Amino acid sequence: MSTALDAPGRPGDFVRRHIGTDAAAQALMLNAVGYDSVDALVQTAVPASIHVHPRSTSSIPAAATEAEALAELRELAAQNRVARPMIGLGYYDTFTPSVIARNVLENPSWYTAYTPYQPEISQGRLEALINFQTMVTDLTGLATANASMLDESTAVVEGMLVARRASKSASDVFLVDADALPQTKALLQHRAEAVGISIRFHAFEQSAVPADLDVFGAFIQYPGASGRVWDPSETVAAVKTQGGLVVMAADLLALTLLRSPGALGADVAVGTTQRFGVPLGFGGPHAGYMAVRTGLERQLPGRLVGVSQDAAGHPAYRLSLQTREQHIRREKATSNICTAQVLLAVMAAMYAVYHGPDGLRAIATDVAQKAEALAERLRSYGLTLESDSFFDTLRVHVPGSARRVIERARERGYQLFWADDATVGVSVDETTSAADLAAVAWAFGLPEAEFVGGGEQGDRAVPWEAASALAGVSAELIRREDYLTHPVFNVHRSETAMMRYLKQLADRDYALDRGMIPLGSCTMKLNAATEMAAVSWPEFSRVHPFAPEADVRGYLAMIEQLESWLAEVTGYDAVSLQPNAGSQGELAGLLAIRGYHRANGDVDRTVCLIPSSAHGTNAASAVLAGMQVVVVACDDAGNVDLDDLGAKIALHADRLAALMITYPSTHGVYEHEVLEITQAVHDAGGQVYVDGANLNALLGFARFGDLGGDVSHLNLHKTFAIPHGGGGPGVGPVAAKAHLAPYLPGHPFSQRAEHSGGHVFDGGAVSGAPHGSAGILPISWAYVRMMGSQGLRDATAAAVLAANYIAVRLKDHYPVLYTGEGGLVAHECILDLRPLKEETGVSVDDVAKRLIDYGFHAPTMSFPVAGTLMVEPTESEDLGEIERFIEAMIAIRAEAQAVAAGEWPASDNPLVNAPHTASSVIEGEWTHPYSRELAVYPVHTLVRTKYWPPVRRIDQAYGDRNLVCACPPIEAFA
Ligand SMILES: *Cc1c(COP(=O)(O)O)cnc(C)c1O
Repeated sequence: MSTALDAPGRPGDFVRRHIGTDAAAQALMLNAVGYDSVDALVQTAVPASIHVHPRSTSSIPAAATEAEALAELRELAAQNRVARPMIGLGYYDTFTPSVIARNVLENPSWYTAYTPYQPEISQGRLEALINFQTMVTDLTGLATANASMLDESTAVVEGMLVARRASKSASDVFLVDADALPQTKALLQHRAEAVGISIRFHAFEQSAVPADLDVFGAFIQYPGASGRVWDPSETVAAVKTQGGLVVMAADLLALTLLRSPGALGADVAVGTTQRFGVPLGFGGPHAGYMAVRTGLERQLPGRLVGVSQDAAGHPAYRLSLQTREQHIRREKATSNICTAQVLLAVMAAMYAVYHGPDGLRAIATDVAQKAEALAERLRSYGLTLESDSFFDTLRVHVPGSARRVIERARERGYQLFWADDATVGVSVDETTSAADLAAVAWAFGLPEAEFVGGGEQGDRAVPWEAASALAGVSAELIRREDYLTHPVFNVHRSETAMMRYLKQLADRDYALDRGMIPLGSCTMKLNAATEMAAVSWPEFSRVHPFAPEADVRGYLAMIEQLESWLAEVTGYDAVSLQPNAGSQGELAGLLAIRGYHRANGDVDRTVCLIPSSAHGTNAASAVLAGMQVVVVACDDAGNVDLDDLGAKIALHADRLAALMITYPSTHGVYEHEVLEITQAVHDAGGQVYVDGANLNALLGFARFGDLGGDVSHLNLHKTFAIPHGGGGPGVGPVAAKAHLAPYLPGHPFSQRAEHSGGHVFDGGAVSGAPHGSAGILPISWAYVRMMGSQGLRDATAAAVLAANYIAVRLKDHYPVLYTGEGGLVAHECILDLRPLKEETGVSVDDVAKRLIDYGFHAPTMSFPVAGTLMVEPTESEDLGEIERFIEAMIAIRAEAQAVAAGEWPASDNPLVNAPHTASSVIEGEWTHPYSRELAVYPVHTLVRTKYWPPVRRIDQAYGDRNLVCACPPIEAFA
């Protein structure tokens, strides 16, 4: 079978831009691996029993050129209406400062980086994240914040789980504000049910807490979904008296003017940072946040950046505590969050850095004044509001005519919120103009007078500058504490200064724009510029997730196409794009299995079998879906141990809910017995969850649905070209067979209930927005559109070839731990460095850090097996870069040999001292037994291309006891 690479290319052909190796390079690599064609190689590696059957029809059109794909995206964009969204409910239009849009959102130095597991080469984004944490702790008035959550609604759920873990109360009741965001209520109910928590809604204006009710915690929306600002002190006190914890969702912009959750006694604050310059994107991606009071920091889910020090004693940032929490704690992890929202957290933090405390306060004051001016105008014409105490959102009484008001507003291009037939919601944001307010007033039936003082309307025409912000809010609730006093929030005021700060930080980091990031299980492939283009277009970026169907037809058409393409390539019937990361796709899929069993009356089917090699999120997700994890052993070849699997199935037969396997396995091999495995689970009445994060090894050659999978998640931020953003965003679609489709995530504000192939999704929501992080779906859409079926298959083949080539070239220097059929690996290979450690004393850490001196990002370290490196080159690297990596690894092996031979002492050699900074070779006298040149230019070509790490090796233990998770004083870096 020929590949697209063999044919003469058309100008503008994307496939040969995406795949790094051309036909000549592949021929050379095939020769080394011992195969005639890439197809023959992959056909041998992938078990014959699961080869895909050729289909006569495909929903995936033939590959488009870059120009054609952009033109089609323009057509889709034109079907969305860029309205002025004033719906609110946690999503606001915002001005993304252009300096941040261009230098962060559209800058590959920021968006192509991976999660900062190698802190020495991630100091820039770690600093940006510590700015984020400082911003959140300052504004919420709490002690410690993490480095982002997936969105506000999932953060509320995580807050509820923190409360349950930390509460002294034995109650299983969680009290929820009746004025919470509707989507948050939906998530809380769905997620609580699975873990045995009962939700009780309560209108706090009626009483502080319901009489005679024990609760382990309470949730307060502040301001409320209706916009109401009220004093929750009594509720907080009453909940605490019972030993419960208070979780408060707070609007960060409002907190620049209002008393903070910390000052009001909350234990946990959560929310979104979207309105800090992050585009709406039809629902995401945006960074959620969570902050906790002192004493709860070890309960924080997700990632936390802290201050450590490097080998020279200088301060340096690293991930603290939960670095790879799910991998270490698995089913005991505090949460399943892996990929978070780093890129968006960086943008929000930089919005605060750029505006500073005064700028943010001015924006918030302006918003509050506009809301007050509108309120005064409405009141002056006899309309009444649900509450006169508000920040930016009004609920206006319009008995019987809510629909008409909303229609009139829509005619003029404004989207308002229908609360009920008698009530319309209006939310004001930083982009709202005087003309917008006038048009909205007109929609309510008022004369359209400008909001500029005086004039014919007399004193009914309140200029907003004259309106007093927070006029109706009690003085008790006005903020008195300072915030954002650290210099970082006070010096980058000019665009020049901001541009340079962003450049300085980006320069400290190693991203795909410098070189290969061969991280196994992460699939760091090209994120092409054409794929990224549409993300910034207003027709995709300035769209509210709850906009009416008629305004988002382009989005819905694109989503439907992408769903059908993903269904086809995975062999499933239905796809939901709602989950915001792989972990959330796992959870959605397991909750679908749970829903299915329960609908069949199988309420006791709650055991989830998970092989010991599985990604840590699997076990954590199973627990969150209310399942018990039973671990299945793996044999010496790295495959699932069939005897143990049989025994565990027999033992739990009547209680078996599911098996969760990864295919190909996290050991990077295609298990041959996969069909027997899935059959055994089905025979026992269980469902099969196939973790599809490794789809890059399979796409076009085999399909999860054909292997016996009932449901899978995919990681669009791995296989489908969405950039990793330094640790998020992600999209983790869940795909299922028809029998599970009814249990896939629905949403209270979904524009349509039917998805791929007409299946109606009726399960509970797993994200705040109906289509999750819809704003980045154009990336994956463009990827598939420009690759076509054949290009996708070629990409898989090129990725598998590259991994096998590296395995062959390195196997004499580092043993390859697991191989399958024909001695082949899949799309990644695990190099075993334990023998090296034994022979030479050189550790996997030393090799990883020495790779920095050679200008590389290390492969995945010690996952899934301790003491190993897992290498995944992907299809996008060219042979030159692959060779550079191989040569570096061989040279490092020789360096280790020199240590073993006694040429260099074990305590002083280029490996243990790696990485070497510029200052480390110029400061003081050079006393090491190797040259300065070998330290920093181990390969001569580096003289012109060197990446200089900003810090020496970072102490991975330092600082966990006395956590410092906010910006350290500037003097610390002197
Ligand atoms: C990456 C990965 C996940 C988790 O995906 P996130 O998007 O980071 O939550 C799950 N399983 C496997 C096998 C993975 O490689």
